[in-house]
Amino acid sequence: MGLLSEGSPLSWEDTKSHADHVRTHGIIQFLNQFKKLRDRTKDVLYWGDEVEYMLVKFDHKNRTAKLSLNALPVLDELQKTEKEHPDNHPTTWRPEYAAYMVEGTPGKPYGGMMAHFNLVESNMKLRREEIRKLLAADEYPMSLTAFPRLGCGNFTDPITKPTPTDGASHSLFYADQVIFQGHPRFRTLTRNIRQRRGQKVAINVPIFKDKNTPSPFIEDLSQYGDNGESAKAAKPDHIYMDCMGFGMGCSCLQVTFQACNITEARKLYDQLTPLCPIMLALSAASPIYRGYLSDLDTRWTVISQSVDDRTDEERGLKPLKENKFVINKSRYDSIDSYLSCSAYSNIKLVYDKDIFEKLKSEGIDDLLARHIAHLFIRDPISLFSEKINQNDEEDTDHFENIQSTNWQTMRFKPPPPHSNIGWRVEFRPMEVQLTDFENAAYTVFLVLMTRVILTFELNFIIPLSNVDDNLRRAFKRDAIREEKFCFRKDLLTDDSPPIAEQCVIDCCEGKTCTQQDHFTQMSIDEIIHGKDDYPGLIPLIDKYIDMTEIDVDTRCTIQQYLKLISDRASGKLKTTAQWTRDFVMSHADYKHDSVVPESVNYDLLMKCAQITDGNFDPELLPVSAKSKTSDNIPPAMRKVDAYLNKKNPRNGEMTMLNNST
Ligand code: GLU
Ligand code: MG
Repeated sequence: MGLLSEGSPLSWEDTKSHADHVRTHGIIQFLNQFKKLRDRTKDVLYWGDEVEYMLVKFDHKNRTAKLSLNALPVLDELQKTEKEHPDNHPTTWRPEYAAYMVEGTPGKPYGGMMAHFNLVESNMKLRREEIRKLLAADEYPMSLTAFPRLGCGNFTDPITKPTPTDGASHSLFYADQVIFQGHPRFRTLTRNIRQRRGQKVAINVPIFKDKNTPSPFIEDLSQYGDNGESAKAAKPDHIYMDCMGFGMGCSCLQVTFQACNITEARKLYDQLTPLCPIMLALSAASPIYRGYLSDLDTRWTVISQSVDDRTDEERGLKPLKENKFVINKSRYDSIDSYLSCSAYSNIKLVYDKDIFEKLKSEGIDDLLARHIAHLFIRDPISLFSEKINQNDEEDTDHFENIQSTNWQTMRFKPPPPHSNIGWRVEFRPMEVQLTDFENAAYTVFLVLMTRVILTFELNFIIPLSNVDDNLRRAFKRDAIREEKFCFRKDLLTDDSPPIAEQCVIDCCEGKTCTQQDHFTQMSIDEIIHGKDDYPGLIPLIDKYIDMTEIDVDTRCTIQQYLKLISDRASGKLKTTAQWTRDFVMSHADYKHDSVVPESVNYDLLMKCAQITDGNFDPELLPVSAKSKTSDNIPPAMRKVDAYLNKKNPRNGEMTMLNNST
């Protein structure tokens, strides 16, 4: 979840006093890199996934499932292969926010061959296997978006005790030892976010009102040691949480793309933006928080609130005195501007005018300058004393410091220094699924969408106000069945090759688009399968696949993945969130009071572990959902690859795409 600089963390006061220094040098570093790398080109669109795992410990005698705070030693082992063979390791491992989390990516990115789609699931399986080998028999590596009883009583192994008046988070529910201890970044961010805000973060999620849920639902927080701060921050009829760990202790599935050049990266950043809410709703997997059923199906707003370090002034609650800007969003939120067209960036973009002018004066175009100047309205929230003074020609730590703590739906990533990596974009909203099959399916679907976008020169852009509105709808319980989303129906641009009889639209050059008839409200089902003249995402992918060279096994695998996406979109299969909610609601120990007790948590997670192991539940995943995933590329295809490698020697050299976790 960001840059892992080593060193001694400064206090918040000291970090704050260096904020302008970090910003000034961050911008210089960006400019230096930009000038060196603006023309860097790559021949193939590389991509790779990131999966965040949780270590869960079962006690079968007492029927409990807890989070095992074992990530540090497990990670040490997991990273051994990479350390011993830096150029050849099948998997790459990084720490994540919590002491029960690890993050895994493939050792090398995938490239332009269709056969690469067949490697994804196999590599995900290998990753899970690598973790599992290091765990005790009663421990399990789970890809759970949110641990249902996070912050409830003894939810960790070993047991930890929160310290409401002391330490980094001051949480009533989540002890500091639950934060990953192997790197100071995570604790420091937690403390500094709280101190910068001037109070604890306050996360309020609407509770699901069942027939026995008290109304209004108001918890007595004094039982947890509250001194009144939490009671004031907690909203009635909401599940209240009070620290970064409730958000950043959630897991997700992210995909990073390396574009051929900066222009393509900017285009992908824009074109994938309208897909963020759609993929969030399709991947919804987290209906339970702090042991209560919520009225939301996804983690998004929980994390957003969990790292909201804006002061009262910045949140518009007090007139500006100490701070410079009223800021409309948390650091973890949706994007505020497009990078390749301005007409649809119709929401308030808060940006630092001086930084904007500086970037412009150095030749950065308006849209990119605005984007960077927007990211740089934030303070650094962690700084290491050894890193204050840097060589701006060579280092990018100050730039990365601000960039990597803007956790937005999409991230635009300049090439890191001293690497051969190109311009990248990261797609960040998806929730992680229980099985490797599903995670591969969502990843492959998204990557195929990028191929469709680039091959057919399609345009998915809608006004950002509609993207934000879609995101708010995507959070909700059963969004996939209940909500409609604004989506573009005329996808073709002037450059699109003729793939269907459709009206050709002007792209968003210049003015604000007023042609509302480009957009329409559609269900996820319609977005995925088509409606009237709008072709649908899966039919577009099918058209693309028909045009490509593809081996039989990969084709079969992709078909299985598309079937999953199709069945989730149509409601034939449940989302993980719907399935989880139904499991709880039909459990004998559930008292219809919104509380998810320990025994239900145990049964739920045992069932999840069985599903992960391949014992699918037909409501979530049909038993027939099997791919032909493989850990290598068929020999005939390999020959083609070797030929391409010869033509493009960079192919083989590529290291990880994602240089920060
Ligand atoms: N775990 C975070 C999430 O669920 C993402 C952290 C990261 O940026 O890697 O969105
Ligand atoms: Mg991560």
